[in-house]
Amino acid sequence: MGDSFSLDNEKIQVPCPNCSKGIEVTIGQAKRNPSVQCRSCRQTVKLDATQMKKQIDAVEKSVRDLQRQLGNMFKK
Ligand SMILES: [Zn+2]
Repeated sequence: MGDSFSLDNEKIQVPCPNCSKGIEVTIGQAKRNPSVQCRSCRQTVKLDATQMKKQIDAVEKSVRDLQRQLGNMFKK
């Protein structure tokens, strides 16, 4: 049961190359369809796989850290 959580619902922000506003996209959405539409300027943005991977790694790391902290809390 250790890996029952899914990162697919975790949100990451990608900067819009057109208006530089952050576009919120879930990891699951990004994996399925690596192009999103900016809500501000309606530009279709292709997600950069390398940059996305970095963000996903960062989210995974923070989720693991959080789980570890929660685990320590419940051990008492
Ligand atoms: Zn934009």
